[in-house]
Amino acid sequence: MAKTKNETKVDGERELTFGGVWNYAPSPEGIDHFTIPKRCELFVGGEWIKPKTGEYFATVDPATEAVLSEVALAGDKDVDAAVKAAQKAFVGWRKLSGEDRARYLFRIARILLERQREFACLETLDNGKPIKETRDVDIPLAAQHFFYHAGWADKLELLFPGQSPEPLGVVGQVIPWNFPLLMAAWKIAPALAAGNTVVLKPAETSPLTALRLCEVFQQAGLPPGVVNVITGDGKTGAALVRHPGLAKVAFTGSTEVGKEIQRAVAGRSVELTLELGGKAAHLVFEDAALDQAVEGVVRGIFFNQGHVCCAGSRLLVQESVHELFVDKLRRRMARIRVGNPMDKNTDMGAIHSAAQLARIRELVGDGQASGCELYQPKCELPKKGYWFAPSMFTGVTMSHRIAREEIFGPVLSVLTFRTPEEAVEKANNTAYGLSAGIWTDKGARILWLAERMKAGVVWNNTFNRFDAASPFGGFKESGFGREGGRQGMRGYVRLQGGLLPG
Ligand code: NAD
Repeated sequence: MAKTKNETKVDGERELTFGGVWNYAPSPEGIDHFTIPKRCELFVGGEWIKPKTGEYFATVDPATEAVLSEVALAGDKDVDAAVKAAQKAFVGWRKLSGEDRARYLFRIARILLERQREFACLETLDNGKPIKETRDVDIPLAAQHFFYHAGWADKLELLFPGQSPEPLGVVGQVIPWNFPLLMAAWKIAPALAAGNTVVLKPAETSPLTALRLCEVFQQAGLPPGVVNVITGDGKTGAALVRHPGLAKVAFTGSTEVGKEIQRAVAGRSVELTLELGGKAAHLVFEDAALDQAVEGVVRGIFFNQGHVCCAGSRLLVQESVHELFVDKLRRRMARIRVGNPMDKNTDMGAIHSAAQLARIRELVGDGQASGCELYQPKCELPKKGYWFAPSMFTGVTMSHRIAREEIFGPVLSVLTFRTPEEAVEKANNTAYGLSAGIWTDKGARILWLAERMKAGVVWNNTFNRFDAASPFGGFKESGFGREGGRQGMRGYVRLQGGLLPG
């Protein structure tokens, strides 16, 4: 991570003018300009405070490599201050009526929607994903999570009848970079609805929207300390997870770090939920509506540059339609528009970071070296920034690394099957168990398959559909616990008694 020492005092804000030196022309959403602070501090106890480390690091625009802002690097003392602020706030927050907590959450949701364009632009700049995705998916869904969970805040007794649901206390939440604001909303909204307070650690390469969300909390009048946001790298995350003041740790990120966190909380009375990686199988049967399936497969792997934990990265096609389907896919891929993420017409933006680009290149190189056939449509990639063309491998078998490891990029591996039994066997032949997709015309087959797929989410004749009311989470190396829906709320309450299972 590029670190900058706090030697020069930089005040004020950096103004981004569309069409100006930053060349983000034309304004994507009718915004002429907006500002990004040159330096971002920590949000603790309702205030912006400088880090006790005195250190800052740069966050860059992956599409241009331009530095967007310098962000505070929180150390152990900063983490401690944030947890203490959350502990202090917990005393009052847990006593509020559910109705009052709901009011705050509704207010946050409404303000987020009012500021939707600004959040969409900021997310696209800091993450590299296309503006049409941040505008139509990330920001509205983030607001939806606050709306949805506001609805539960005063109905916890109905949700867990006769079990006296109580909040847990201070929750430490660590999130990844692929859906920065949305992951923050997934974590914060249910925690607050249940009466907990929060210390959130965003990913080091995409912290700006979680920090701007703190402005929304201030605007909504959320009591100080109910949500604290501390920025930093893996060391900051590890310090948070280790802190003895936490009642729960909620983590979304890689399986590797998830395992480290499991070790860090072992032997402590801390609740834990883990949302980790995936290697989803996307099954296409010969009787499926093939043109619709092509759209689903393309969305399944190229949405958000493939930086999606539930991406349909393994395509299993029935042998009888394999050639036809791959041919349709090639033609569709040639129409994917890759480029400036701030352009409304862009389908695929920049790869999020140099490190992620290196990982994608390494695995694609391995696929080629192992004899798999690579298809990439001709597309002119910008000279600056981190870019990778949409890619598809054919001739893949289950033993290839590209069929087993999470690439987390725009790379599809195509395999074949003959019978439904073989499809299920291949789909489940993975260490992960987060999601799966089925394309077939037969309802009975969908039910037969869905029962046998070892995946937390199984989409039928669609893919990558998300809703706050629908639980999301994995099995095996994809983690445990659910987010969203009634099941997600269960992870943020302690049940005191009663006969019904939680
Ligand atoms: P990552 O595990 O490298 O980092 C995630 C977060 O953990 C970051 O904020 C990071 O700073 C922090 N961190 C790193 N080391 C830590 C430690 N030792 N202790 C505590 N925190 C630490 O993952 P990433 O590269 O940011 O994200 C990509 C991964 O996230 C992929 O594997 C993807 O599948 C997964 N993901 C899963 C879901 C899901 O819901 N299952 C959703 C999105 C992403």
